[in-house]
Amino acid sequence: MSFDVEAIRREFPALHQEVHGRPLVYLDSAASSMKPEAVIEALTRFYRRDYSNVHRGVHALSQRATEAFEGARKAVAAFLSAGEDEVVFTRGTTEALNLVAQAWGGKVLGPGDEVVLSEMEHHSQIVPWQMACERHGATLRVLRIDERGAIAEGEIERKIGPRTKVVAIVHTSNALGTVNDVRRIAEVTRAVSKDAVVVVDGAQATPHGPIDPRALGADFFAFSGHKMFAPTGIGVLWGKRERLAEMPPWQGGGDMIRSVSFEGTTYADPPSRFEAGTPAIGEAIGLGAAVRWMMGLDWAAVADHEDALLAYGHARLSEVKGLRLTGTAERKKAVMAFAIDGVHPHDLGTLVDLEGIAVRVGHHCAEPVMKRFGVPATTRASLALYSTRAEIDRLVQAIDKAVAILR
Ligand code: PMP
Repeated sequence: MSFDVEAIRREFPALHQEVHGRPLVYLDSAASSMKPEAVIEALTRFYRRDYSNVHRGVHALSQRATEAFEGARKAVAAFLSAGEDEVVFTRGTTEALNLVAQAWGGKVLGPGDEVVLSEMEHHSQIVPWQMACERHGATLRVLRIDERGAIAEGEIERKIGPRTKVVAIVHTSNALGTVNDVRRIAEVTRAVSKDAVVVVDGAQATPHGPIDPRALGADFFAFSGHKMFAPTGIGVLWGKRERLAEMPPWQGGGDMIRSVSFEGTTYADPPSRFEAGTPAIGEAIGLGAAVRWMMGLDWAAVADHEDALLAYGHARLSEVKGLRLTGTAERKKAVMAFAIDGVHPHDLGTLVDLEGIAVRVGHHCAEPVMKRFGVPATTRASLALYSTRAEIDRLVQAIDKAVAILR
């Protein structure tokens, strides 16, 4: 198989529109990706034909809906080379990480214990673990990053130790693009603390192909559907079977129980134990369609396309006078974040929008990264498999025009 970007683009209706009278250039896929016809059709089919609540229903529509919903779990499990019982549906990465921080954190953390995370974490990893540490008297330790945006030399060995109970690490940083060596971090963790778990934020990893979290050395792996061509409101917490079995529930309600009485309640096995209430049925079915669609692609060819585009983007952006890239790590994916001397990112974002170009400006929910690089905000152009060189050329042209106005 090979990769034809124009053929892929034809599958994404939203890419083909004008914004402010100019053809749209969508360089904000790290915030959320566009959706292919396969996903839109799966959603429409469900709502037009198969719609019903899932589980426990004896009628035909409920059985159809349950089949489609559990079929989505099966598809996600295949995408992760995992078991279906290891796939917990959540609202997204944020909810998945809060689940682990509350349920696992509540089980294992106490005074003197340490949670290690990196300086490049998204707020959705930092804040839940900070809250868990405050609640249980544990301490947060931070792996500092270097000037290129990679974890600094020696930090992993220095900070992860026998007191470590949790290592919370982002696979691919949304603010920098840095890809962390999760496997090595997991190996170091296992060597020094036998009961520590590795909790991976995979939100920016899964849009770039199937992933095997167990082979990565993760105990838990969280991601969001909406960044990987699926609807909003659905995500996944993958947990190693043996970890999920040990983890207490977090939210109580329907579907997560085995039996309820006023004398006491017993809980369902995973994944149901962590899925209280009516789930996001249509959204999960949409995620199933997205991963099936993704698994039909040649990911080696997609990676070649995306990596060549990133290198091209770096080269083109470096031509802009006064532009400084934040995040130039050797292992990097799909994100180009930068600051330009004398130009406020919000002004830049507004002017390039008038040219039909969507980029994101701000702290990208990674305020410690902004602090590390001494900037209040950056402009971020992010790529997906449907991005093109011509779009990067349009971006650079628009930046040049904006800078001439703003300086
Ligand atoms: N982690 C990373 C690296 C992200 O990029 C994001 C989304 N910006 C999140 C976590 C949170 O994802 P969500 O808002 O979908 O829960």
